[in-house]
Amino acid sequence: MPKMPRWMDEAVIARDQSAAPRPAKVSQPGSGARAARVGRPSGAGADAVRSGPGLVSDAARGAMVEGLRRTGIADPQVLQAVLAVPRHAFVEQALSSRAYEDVALPIGHAQTISRPFTVARMIEIAAARLEPGVRSQANVLEIGTGCGYQAAVLAQLFGQVVSIERIRGLHERARANLRVFRLANLRLVFGDGVDGVPQAAPYDIILAAAAGERIPDSWLEQMKVGGRLVAPVSGPKGQALHLVERTGSEHWQLTVLDAVRFVPLRGGTA
Ligand code: SAH
Repeated sequence: MPKMPRWMDEAVIARDQSAAPRPAKVSQPGSGARAARVGRPSGAGADAVRSGPGLVSDAARGAMVEGLRRTGIADPQVLQAVLAVPRHAFVEQALSSRAYEDVALPIGHAQTISRPFTVARMIEIAAARLEPGVRSQANVLEIGTGCGYQAAVLAQLFGQVVSIERIRGLHERARANLRVFRLANLRLVFGDGVDGVPQAAPYDIILAAAAGERIPDSWLEQMKVGGRLVAPVSGPKGQALHLVERTGSEHWQLTVLDAVRFVPLRGGTA
């Protein structure tokens, strides 16, 4: 058993400059950007993914990614991963015409699919210290699978991804949404993510898609030394993204970043 974390430094209450690499070029829509792991969907459901009105087309997704680049996402691998995942396949058909707007959308059970900017920003911050070659080996935990969208984006970039969800209906929906993409490096777990997923620990990256009042000790313990955790945390003035870096076996450093709005982190399963 790892020892309980003794303390954490609160380093900077500011935007983390180091997490924002210099702007880099990303391929324009349709220019053949490398879509790493989401290939052509196949099997049942593939037609639904491939077809659809113009708004759910590759061009709409390319325009969304271009918007992310303009609003400050600079990491070309992160942009390519977002480009590779058809977000419309993760929302109900009635909402699919809005899938490439930069907004959170309802996914049932009073939960939402996160804003693409938030997904990209969290991944960019978490991966900022990992060289591109190392990323493909990284072990990653996501807390809050929801409909599975961010999990699919993570699986484009990283070696192994484990994603845990506490609502069975969403866990099952995510499984159904993701089946068509055949992501062999993604594992979905049903359970309470407050405990992390110790079976697959330690992690290079932990991302939470739901805001608690504090970061659970289990998450801190399940980080590798040198690993990074990005999670929304609720406070009296609202929520903020917290970046925690494990700088030693008994040392964690906290940086408080952007104001955000996430659904609450809840204990237990439903
Ligand atoms: N990652 C999703 C976001 C889903 S919203 C995306 O790609 O858009 C956040 C999710 O966190 C919800 O589905 C909610 O049920 C889940 N959640 C909240 N508390 C949790 C917990 N303790 N363990 C696991 N999942 C949790």
